[in-house]
Amino acid sequence: MSKSQVLIIGGGPAGSSAAYFLAKQGIKVTLLDKDRWPRDKVCGGGLTTNCLPVLEKMDVIEQVEQKADFKYNGYIIHSPEGEQIKASVRRRSENGLSKQIPYCYVIKRDSFDEILLNKAKKAGTNVLTGVEAKKVEEGEPSKVLTKDGRTFEADILIVADGSGGPITRHFTKDLHKGSAIAVRGYYSGVKDVGSVIEFFLDDELGFGYGWLFPLGDGRINTGIGLDTAFLKRRKKNVRQVFKEMLEKPQLKERMAEAKLEGKLEAFPLRMGFDKDAFRHNRVLFVGDSAKLIYPLSGEGISYALQSGELAANAIVEVYQTASPDYKKLARYEIECRESFSDLKYATRLQKLMARPKVQRFFYKNSVYDENLGQRATGMLEHSSDVSTFFNFRTIAKSFIIAIKRKLSLNGKDTEEAQKRAKSVSQG
Ligand SMILES: Cc1cc2nc3c(=O)[nH]c(=O)nc-3n(C[C@H](O)[C@H](O)[C@H](O)COP(=O)(O)OP(=O)(O)OC[C@H]3O[C@@H](n4cnc5c(N)ncnc54)[C@H](O)[C@@H]3O)c2cc1C
Repeated sequence: MSKSQVLIIGGGPAGSSAAYFLAKQGIKVTLLDKDRWPRDKVCGGGLTTNCLPVLEKMDVIEQVEQKADFKYNGYIIHSPEGEQIKASVRRRSENGLSKQIPYCYVIKRDSFDEILLNKAKKAGTNVLTGVEAKKVEEGEPSKVLTKDGRTFEADILIVADGSGGPITRHFTKDLHKGSAIAVRGYYSGVKDVGSVIEFFLDDELGFGYGWLFPLGDGRINTGIGLDTAFLKRRKKNVRQVFKEMLEKPQLKERMAEAKLEGKLEAFPLRMGFDKDAFRHNRVLFVGDSAKLIYPLSGEGISYALQSGELAANAIVEVYQTASPDYKKLARYEIECRESFSDLKYATRLQKLMARPKVQRFFYKNSVYDENLGQRATGMLEHSSDVSTFFNFRTIAKSFIIAIKRKLSLNGKDTEEAQKRAKSVSQG
């Protein structure tokens, strides 16, 4: 039997970030991951600027820079009608304002996750890969039984086994509530791949979307993500919807000679803010295990990194006194509710956007008004505050923009706005 102060199940960004910040503070921490490393994770590998603060604290930016497959310098969101919102990459600073930065990264998860796990290991984490947790007996201490017949004991457990992991499932009754599914493929020979990451909206995707992330030399990481209930109502499977998506006018020509490398892979996304998903007694949930996925984009890496750090900070507090004060773990829950409240607003906005009329209203306004367009894309990278979309000022301004748009003589202003949008170079 092996005993540690903290046992982490899962070595993705959430588990590695927690392990790094704990080990750095001298906490005895063991991390188990079921896979042999390096391992891939079905993902777009798109890092938003929201990841950068934790990556900087972990001192891994240089390695990410070296291993990144691509550095993107902007965004395009394509509407079903072929309109485009274009924006630059922005980073939100601590005072809440956002600033343009030259680029951010697309990086394959085998490289990215290995950088993080190695960093946690170097900081002093006892990392065991190829060890699958099978069962948990919660207690003081808790016990985790593995597939290979070993037992690990720890005072505090961090569950970081991702969307649909077995240990998360052990604690969660509503595993599939608020869930989505995504499918991803790598393609080569794609035409007109610029230096921006692209998103595609379509009625067939409900409030989901398709993405196209460049990897260089005409290679891309592409896929779609959509709500499982919506998919069920449509009586279609996710691969079928994806293939139909590639036939849409915005993609058909560009994908005409593209070749799929390997196979399409699907993976669940556990999303929808849940204030009770962060802690159960001395068990903390981080990353996807805590439902920390941004519903407007399916982005979860930045939340995984941040929640890992918050969990570590709360645990360090526990051991500040001569005998551990486990009540201090409540700090983790409180901080998560505060730090990730944007997920609540994003969930509301996502529900509104599920109505095609609202989506089109918002979309047309964003194409017409450059400032609103930047704010809309800013939601994807968290450089704009999603809660402000619900304040009176923004709602009133939206109607003013809509009136201006409609009143513009013979659609002249609209044409200019369209021209302006289309003239922003893809590269
Ligand atoms: C198709 C798709 C595209 C996506 N694209 C993006 C994107 O571009 N950008 C973005 O920010 N987010 C994206 N996401 C979301 C992102 O992948 C997740 O939010 C992120 O990986 C969460 O990190 P995590 O550490 O919580 O979990 P994971 O990264 O899932 O890590 C969980 C780890 O736990 C291990 N594990 C599981 N079960 C056990 C067990 N029983 N015992 C031991 N170990 C176990 C696994 O091997 C794995 O290493 C995408 C998701 C999907 C499905």
